[in-house]
Amino acid sequence: MAARILDGKSLAAQVRAGVQQQVARLAQRGIRPGLAVILAGDDPASKVYVRNKVRACEETGVRSSLFEYPGSVSQGELLERVAQLNADPAVHGILVQLPLPRPVDALRVLGAVSPAKDVDGFHDENLGALLAGKPGLVPCTPAGVMRLLEHAAVPLAGRRAVVIGRSNIVGKPLALLLLQRDATVTICHSKSKDIEAIAAEADILVAAIGRAKLVGAAMVKPGACVVDVGVNRLPDGTLAGDVDFHAAKELAGWITPVPGGVGPMTIAMLLENCLYAAQKDAKPAT
Ligand code: NAP
Repeated sequence: MAARILDGKSLAAQVRAGVQQQVARLAQRGIRPGLAVILAGDDPASKVYVRNKVRACEETGVRSSLFEYPGSVSQGELLERVAQLNADPAVHGILVQLPLPRPVDALRVLGAVSPAKDVDGFHDENLGALLAGKPGLVPCTPAGVMRLLEHAAVPLAGRRAVVIGRSNIVGKPLALLLLQRDATVTICHSKSKDIEAIAAEADILVAAIGRAKLVGAAMVKPGACVVDVGVNRLPDGTLAGDVDFHAAKELAGWITPVPGGVGPMTIAMLLENCLYAAQKDAKPAT
């Protein structure tokens, strides 16, 4: 039986509608969540991502401001902007679009963002909170994956989860979130041996690699939930995930498509993080 499709586009639309309602409620208290986006350089993919994020803000009533810099921007200029946004009470969320142009030290710039405004959840303080199981701003893509799994009621407790990819923004935080939900988690990476065999044991298999169609049918356990985080541009210009969708969907119990799976959820979670930051900021005044 073919897999159930985890439709991120439709769930993201529901999440955005919820954010829109909450934003309207906050407006009655005179608060409007505000997101500031810093974009440096000419990376075409970054420009598209930022455009989509800004558009999503507009649709839900979140105020957005975009600060664009050429590829020649200095680290000092970016740090100065971050400091100014940290101090601006109308800005509740700050997003630094990656990658930053060389030789800017991206970790230094991300580390300068106030943890309370770190809506990407990349600050060490927020990552530490996630590790310790404390509340904080959770990275958007892993949060979006968890929302998709919860919405589809995919069983997690006691199940084997395998996450391929160990980046700080996707693989590691997602592994921690799955662990919080009592899955038994294995993380694989480029130096892992026997990935095929490890993946084939997974009840929940997540690919966050950045290699088109690396995950084939041999890596999918029948009935497994397959989550494809990867976004890869093929030579013909089309997009492909890290999973061979057509082969995997014949075996999997659930599967995310690319596009239309994890991607839309990432933006929806960014909006929720902006709302969370604005609500938290507003609390003392009420
Ligand atoms: P990344 O920082 O490049 O990390 C990739 C990870 O994959 C690394 O841990 C790497 O291992 C591992 N890896 C690479 N080749 C491998 C192989 N042959 N076998 C096993 N593991 C391998 O990438 P990322 O930022 O996590 O993103 C991963 C993918 O998700 C990309 O396609 C990206 O575009 C996509 N993405 C999508 C969204 C979305 O919203 N849909 C958001 C973020 C990212 P090492 O650590 O050993 O190098």
